[in-house]
Amino acid sequence: MSNMEHDRWSRVKGRLRSSVGEDVYSSWFARMDLEAVQPESVHLSVPTRFLKSWIQTHYSDKVLTCWQAELPEVCRIDLTVRSPMRAAVAKEAAAPVEHRRAEHRPATETRSHATVPASSNHDALGGSPLDPRLTFASFVVGRSNTLAHAAAKQVAEGRRGDPVMFNPLYIHSGVGLGKTHLLQAVTWAGNTGIERKVLYLTAEKFMYGFVAALKTQTSLAFKEALRGIDVLVIDDLQFLQGKTTQAEFCHTLNALIDAGRQVVVAADRPPSDLESLDERVRSRLAGGLVVEMAPLGEDLRLGILKSRVVAARAHHASFDVPAPVLEYLARAITHNGRDLEGAINRLLAHSKLNAQPVTLEMAEHEVRDLIRPQEPKRIKIEDIQRIVARQYNVSRSDLLSSRRTANVVRPRQVAMYLAKTLTLRSLPEIGRRFGGRDHTTVLHAVRKIEGLVSKDTTLSDEVDSLKRQLQE
Ligand code: ADP
Ligand code: MG
Repeated sequence: MSNMEHDRWSRVKGRLRSSVGEDVYSSWFARMDLEAVQPESVHLSVPTRFLKSWIQTHYSDKVLTCWQAELPEVCRIDLTVRSPMRAAVAKEAAAPVEHRRAEHRPATETRSHATVPASSNHDALGGSPLDPRLTFASFVVGRSNTLAHAAAKQVAEGRRGDPVMFNPLYIHSGVGLGKTHLLQAVTWAGNTGIERKVLYLTAEKFMYGFVAALKTQTSLAFKEALRGIDVLVIDDLQFLQGKTTQAEFCHTLNALIDAGRQVVVAADRPPSDLESLDERVRSRLAGGLVVEMAPLGEDLRLGILKSRVVAARAHHASFDVPAPVLEYLARAITHNGRDLEGAINRLLAHSKLNAQPVTLEMAEHEVRDLIRPQEPKRIKIEDIQRIVARQYNVSRSDLLSSRRTANVVRPRQVAMYLAKTLTLRSLPEIGRRFGGRDHTTVLHAVRKIEGLVSKDTTLSDEVDSLKRQLQE
């Protein structure tokens, strides 16, 4: 490029900058290069397809006007995408711009000064921190997460320019079932190549970034930089709040999807249950692939425990958890993956601090608060009879007798009703246990009390109190 041409290009950029503002300029035009000037047209280049289509749809007139102010005969702008390969090579070569001459340069070649480091967008947007342990390698696949895993893998392996198969990919499940793990795995896998930019943001970070950007008045740059991402990963979408942020999220979502960029979202509920979100956003979210991850089955829990032990052994070679202990933990601990992780951490800490091997007894003690709550207490018919008799001040044998005085009939009916509703015994069985009565008598008692409970608040309070006593 001649000095004259170089100066002209600088002036054009200056015009552009003052016409669109610094934020827009640095978001969209900082990486635009001049390739060649012909009598009636100017050839410019940008590093990504997304930038190209964005500039073409939003700023082509502006760019042309700025050139015409310098060279009135220009009537066309050609905008092309520089290949990343060439950009990388050119970066290595790092040849000073002035030493090259535009006339002798192939149109697609690029120079170093305009090659912004690939991660700058990511950094500017302040992606949420990633946990290096949450990768595909450490993700255990089982029945409850096969589909979610396959879809995430597919997204992670996509190349820039590949057709996007499902967009957005929406993963939902209860807490601790691996959503964040899967999302971060996608981000790690996607960012290993130089070609694609995968940005992982929690919904809170998205909101925070947006609010912070509003405060410093760079929101436009923030928004536009966000739209320059290849894969946007948003975790815990249920926390996205506030009308402005939601509207912004909606624009971003639409812009990315329409530009063929991948969006991956995780939440603790399906799109239809995100009450606070706009109907259009919900339907857009539901329009891709929605996958639910079920609670971790016992096999999967065992697999996760084993992989956690392997990971721990990388740093603590002497740490070992015998198979029966792992099986016990897989059976006893709730579905939540965090508790599995917590259990292994405690065993590790305990065995390190006390220099003792892990035993079943120690494991039972260490993780007792992580154990699933006991099955509800099995209630026995004898207990029902005893407690009902006490409440109504009659004897248990009165309840079993054939006496039909009112002070016995009602307590007997209540006891039968409780036997039917609190145990799994059949009507004939209950009849037998109440002095050999017929099952129709039991049925009559159950119906009678059911009817009374809905009308008689004193009786319904008595029944509730009996239930409570029995369940304690
Ligand atoms: P969520 O985001 O759904 O609440 P996380 O991804 O934070 O759940 O998972 C909680 C813990 O359980 C993490 O330590 C995670 O590594 C682990 N975990 C969950 N599912 C799996 C899995 N399939 N394989 C390996 N670890 C898992
Ligand atoms: Mg999570």
